[in-house]
Amino acid sequence: MNFHSVHLAFFEKALLYALARNQHKISHAGKKCAEQLRLLSLVAKLRTMKNFDTHQRCYTPITDHAALRQTCAQLENESWLAVDTEFVRVDTYYPELSLVQIATANRDFYLIDPLALLAEKEHNPGITQPLMPLMTLLQNPNVLKVFHSARQDVEVLFQLQHQMPAALFDTQIAAIFLRHGDLAGFARVIEAELGISLDKSQTRTNWHARPLSAEQIAYAIDDVDYLVRLYQHLTAQLSEAQKQAVLQDSAKLLQPELYQTQPDQAWLKIKGLKRLKPKQLAMVQSLAAWREQHAIEHNQPKKWTLSDDALLEIVKRPPRTVAALYKVPGIKSSSVRDFGEDWIARIDCVFSAEPESYPQLPPALPEPNPQELALLDACHAFCQQVSLDYAVPIQNMVSRDELLCLIREPHRAPWQGWRHHLLGKPLQTWLLGQSTLCVQAQRLQFDTPSR
Ligand SMILES: [Zn+2]
Repeated sequence: MNFHSVHLAFFEKALLYALARNQHKISHAGKKCAEQLRLLSLVAKLRTMKNFDTHQRCYTPITDHAALRQTCAQLENESWLAVDTEFVRVDTYYPELSLVQIATANRDFYLIDPLALLAEKEHNPGITQPLMPLMTLLQNPNVLKVFHSARQDVEVLFQLQHQMPAALFDTQIAAIFLRHGDLAGFARVIEAELGISLDKSQTRTNWHARPLSAEQIAYAIDDVDYLVRLYQHLTAQLSEAQKQAVLQDSAKLLQPELYQTQPDQAWLKIKGLKRLKPKQLAMVQSLAAWREQHAIEHNQPKKWTLSDDALLEIVKRPPRTVAALYKVPGIKSSSVRDFGEDWIARIDCVFSAEPESYPQLPPALPEPNPQELALLDACHAFCQQVSLDYAVPIQNMVSRDELLCLIREPHRAPWQGWRHHLLGKPLQTWLLGQSTLCVQAQRLQFDTPSR
């Protein structure tokens, strides 16, 4: 809270107190005395100047373009901002932005209402891109944007105008170094690090509702209020190298490819393709492309028409008629009715195509020899130790292929960010013969001999 808002909050409290002390002066006719009326009008005036949430936090709601432009221009001077978004994603392909919360290091709070800004555009054709000032701020490389678990926020912000924010710090990644695991939720980290338990009652609220309730506003402000404190708390504890690792991992979340799926690449996101033959892969590719295209065109979740499991069942024993499609395990018969002919046409198309046109998975690595297997086991044991120490499941840290690549070419560690810091660097040093693996206090660790 800044100096100005502290004063306003204090002033309002004083007014309300004075008013309470005057209650007994209400006349027999039930009319308020002149002094009370004057106090009441002052309170009302104060509240239009500034808004307070139920925790007496002063915030600025932003519902028109002029205010957004002015606020964002002012925020360009900050070195970092805590940012959070609320959105609705029920039954749609794309998330729909409902609210953007921003807090400064001084805990000034801004609630940007994209629904109001978009509605304003309807009445004012002069405004072509109502959220442009916000995008400009988010793209400013000199203002670090602090999010917790940024991926979905980045996705919804990117979808707005197909522009990517810049300069990101994800506190969820930073929390890995404090041993909270790689997927620690905001409330859990706040509880563990700051000892504060957050109100979770609004997690499933409808953020598209207007006006927002007092509870929603307080919850929305909580998200950035505690994010400010968490960022300050975390950065005070991380080493410079750890902070750089967090920035590196956060920057990876800013690749547009993560958020726009090309329909003909959609098949690569499906799990369980390894055992399929090239012809089956061609069917997966074709059906997944159809599904993605359909989902994008109708703005619907893609599983509405065809689940991954049903898609894989189709290609296991490809039906040649719509009637046969109905018998595929796990398939939705309404989808077969509406789209079955399209799907059969696509399957036929693969059968008549030249085998050379079938897609291929990236070639598998040559199998490890017995010597490499021994090193692989040792590396794996160290990874298990790190997994235990940092509460990150081993499958989220490293794959067997990545370890094998490192063993074969230890000069070229394949990781960045926290993985490089916690795993890649120590393993690389060891594989290059510059440290020794030892046991201390029943834990595996590397010792670097002092020279
Ligand atoms: Zn939130």
